[in-house]
Amino acid sequence: MSDPSFFRAAEDAGFSLMQALVVDDSAVYRKLIGDQLRSWGFGVTLAESGSDAWKILEQPDSPKLALLDWVLPDIDGVELCRRIRSARSSGPYVYVILLTSKEGRQNMLEAMKAGADDYLVKPFDEMELKARLLVGKRILDLQEELVTARESMRHAATHDSLTGLMNRGEIVAMLGRELERARREHSPVGVILGDIDHFKKVNDTLGHLFGDEALREVGSRLREQLRVYDGVGRYGGKEFLMVLPNCDLPNAMQRANELRDIIARAPVACSGEEKLITMSMGVAVAISASDGKNDLEALLNQADAGLYAAKENGRNRVEHFIPKLKKAAAARARKN
Ligand code: GH3
Ligand code: MG
Repeated sequence: MSDPSFFRAAEDAGFSLMQALVVDDSAVYRKLIGDQLRSWGFGVTLAESGSDAWKILEQPDSPKLALLDWVLPDIDGVELCRRIRSARSSGPYVYVILLTSKEGRQNMLEAMKAGADDYLVKPFDEMELKARLLVGKRILDLQEELVTARESMRHAATHDSLTGLMNRGEIVAMLGRELERARREHSPVGVILGDIDHFKKVNDTLGHLFGDEALREVGSRLREQLRVYDGVGRYGGKEFLMVLPNCDLPNAMQRANELRDIIARAPVACSGEEKLITMSMGVAVAISASDGKNDLEALLNQADAGLYAAKENGRNRVEHFIPKLKKAAAARARKN
């Protein structure tokens, strides 16, 4: 420990970003291991029983590295391993090193079967502990890379690369989920289908790159104008689909007009060129009927019909499709 190169090596290992959980019922060992880990740059959380450790591990952002004593007053280290592996199979990986005074191959096998990654017999050599921690860190780093790669693949599969918005599949899936929820909660769902006007001319006169920038800009203006729980996705080349949970027809119309205005209000600029872009929009609302199923396809067709009408009626405008009310609802509406 007095060798300065040892500290340098510890810094090289990059332990300073790591949190470790040390579980031991012996105050002496807690202090010994805790101090040792801190001197290598770890952040240390201490627990003196298996149940305390379990409470810590159940918290979000709990340490990903755990050093567990085998014999503990309530839940022992091996049982803790089993719990970590079974309950947390979907969560981030926890690298477990069992530290114990139990010797023997049979014990080692039992610990590994229970889900421990490594096993160290007390009293242990500090260099050996450090070596095991380096391996643990390497495994956790690899694990994190895997999770990041999986996450970025998932993002690429569900988002449009030009605008960064949800892609068609994803926004339609969101609409499906919202319709399902609306049916349970008897609430409306509004959809707005927006389409950029005369976009071919934008591409033809200002070039495809300007067209791409216009699509990005339109996408980001729509996203900024919408609320966090509303969804917006790129539905097609220059079509955007917006899903507004709990939004009735008057509200959806108002929101659509705000969105239309935010697009038309200021020109899109790119490489010294500027161009005013406008959007036509079709609005449709699913009104949840107590007996009926909301039909996703019908709703999209209605929004499309509204969009078609907006184009026909001069563009840069919003039109809506009025759903046929159920007989009883229509009768109620007439009475009022
Ligand atoms: P309208 O108002 O009737 O909808 O007229 P429009 O010119 O916008 O419609 P049209 O369907 O004739 O043209 C669509 C254009 O959108 C043609 C296509 O090249 C362009 N487009 C589709 N996707 C992209 C894209 O990702 N980038 C660019 N730059 N253009 C795209
Ligand atoms: Mg068109």
